Amino acid sequence: MIRPNIAAMQGYVPGEQPQAGKFIKLNTNENPYDPSPSVLRVVREFSADSLRRYPDPTAAAFRTCAGDILGIPPDWILCGNGSDDILTIATRTFVGEGEHLRTAYPSYILYKTLADIQGASTETVDFDEQWHLPESFLRPAPGLKLVFLANPNSPSGSCLAPDVVEHIARQLDCPLLVDEAYVDFAETNCLQLVRRCDNVLVSRTLSKSYALAGLRFGYVVARPAVIEQLQKVKDSYNCDAISIAAATAAIADQAWLRTTTARICATRSRAAEQLSQLGLCVQPSQANFLWCTHPSKSLRAVYEALKNQRILVRYMAYDRWPEGIRITVGTDDQMDACVGALRDILAGPM
Ligand SMILES: *Cc1c(COP(=O)(O)O)cnc(C)c1O
Repeated sequence: MIRPNIAAMQGYVPGEQPQAGKFIKLNTNENPYDPSPSVLRVVREFSADSLRRYPDPTAAAFRTCAGDILGIPPDWILCGNGSDDILTIATRTFVGEGEHLRTAYPSYILYKTLADIQGASTETVDFDEQWHLPESFLRPAPGLKLVFLANPNSPSGSCLAPDVVEHIARQLDCPLLVDEAYVDFAETNCLQLVRRCDNVLVSRTLSKSYALAGLRFGYVVARPAVIEQLQKVKDSYNCDAISIAAATAAIADQAWLRTTTARICATRSRAAEQLSQLGLCVQPSQANFLWCTHPSKSLRAVYEALKNQRILVRYMAYDRWPEGIRITVGTDDQMDACVGALRDILAGPM
């Protein structure tokens, strides 16, 4: 009864979500700080009447507010139930059965899952050791209908400059979706490319920098002609009323965003320095996590040892790539605990 492509696929496995309070949780790039107080106020004061009615199908309140802040008209924005919903909508809009999409490797694993569901194939192009992309990433190909680029990338935290991304977009003859889930922790962004290149879409999420992973809200910026097509594919009420109201309050509080992201970036520099001193190779990061490899120790064993001490990080073993752990940047105290535990673990026999 099951479509063969569904039966054959692995399915995306999200990072572990253990019971609250038991672990220092540095495995899924959540923000360690509470969201803006104005978000909590909106959620607390939400009216029965607004729950009784269907939500605005286009989340106009959010689009207007975000448009003002980003300097783009609201009809260039489409909202989603998390940015994963945006990625799903884009895949369903652009890629048909038997066609393919392209992603860099290693990167966000969900892209392949979306292709699998669609009955499409995934072509991966490996990053080089400096986390740059070879020419083959920009080459048009028959049946290639969509290219995903996480920028900043996960697990590396590396970020391609906007002029490099523009060069990629101009060589391709299909849409390029720049997934900017971590962009608020980066020095640059590609939002202006949406105006400059008609095949660029930029997606963002409130899950990481706005500390709202539980809320589920993301959006994509693209030309109105593209938004109009994406709109046909999304669920009619893909964003619920509470999330629209809360997301609008969140993006309106840019002072909160600046303070919180600056704090996380400061902790990131400090932690990167300390982790390097322990002998880990720490990739310079423009995101809220640090990708660490080690010249000789087994990082799977290190991950397990950390977990035994109730510190949860993400262990990753990609084909053709050294294994590593991705450590979310938490509070200074959480990072001190993590660095302290790693110091003992790495000093031991392993
Ligand atoms: C976390 C993440 C997302 C998805 O975030 P949502 O919670 O679905 O908004 C998208 N892309 C990348 C690269 C991510 O790391």
